[in-house]
Amino acid sequence: MDATILIVEDEQNINDILVYTFAKEGYKTLSATDGVKGLEMALNENPDLILLDIMLPGMDGYDVCKKVREKSNVPIIMLTAREDEVDKVLGLEFGADDYITKPYSVRELTARVKANLRRSLFAASELKNEDRAPGDVNTIVSGDLTINTERYEVTKKGKVIDITLREFDLLKFLAMQPDKIFSREKLLENVWGYEYYGDVRTVDVTVRRLREKIEDDPSMPKYIITKRGVGYYFNK
Ligand code: CA
Repeated sequence: MDATILIVEDEQNINDILVYTFAKEGYKTLSATDGVKGLEMALNENPDLILLDIMLPGMDGYDVCKKVREKSNVPIIMLTAREDEVDKVLGLEFGADDYITKPYSVRELTARVKANLRRSLFAASELKNEDRAPGDVNTIVSGDLTINTERYEVTKKGKVIDITLREFDLLKFLAMQPDKIFSREKLLENVWGYEYYGDVRTVDVTVRRLREKIEDDPSMPKYIITKRGVGYYFNK
């Protein structure tokens, strides 16, 4: 796999370890040790995934993430050091795809990177795939919403919604099996693609972001419904 990973981490020894680890796994790597340089590389070098520390000189990881998101849907994994950073990543909406709490094992981080890359590379290849039979166009229509699973596009009242790949995957997964309730663990496993590593709060955050985009009133959702104590389902 010749995907390029951008590592933005100011602690030089950690940065070195990450570069070494991912180079050994066969990835191309780019590295930056401050936020400004990290942002510049993120926007100019087209990495396939970004590992982003939060406490950085120049510009912190939250701002880097927000600014990258204005321009790109590249997967971003935040490297958080403390529980209050986790809360901030989850609570405020910087548009990160995932996060991992320090200290993390290299094995865990590698698994996360692979899972995130797999999703985005799969989506890219799906977009290029034009060999489908004409009848094979997969469109799910529900109320005002149209989900085109071939073009990774969601429209509401005919207007295209700006949606990240992960949000799309979650919406598609739920919408393809309407009225079926999935636990957050099950969603993590199926949509994020890892069984043991994820934090179920990631699911809640993604649901919240999705609701803000697709629901008329996110506090009274019509499409993605919470089944208290159980999980979520798509109401067709
Ligand atoms: Ca740092």
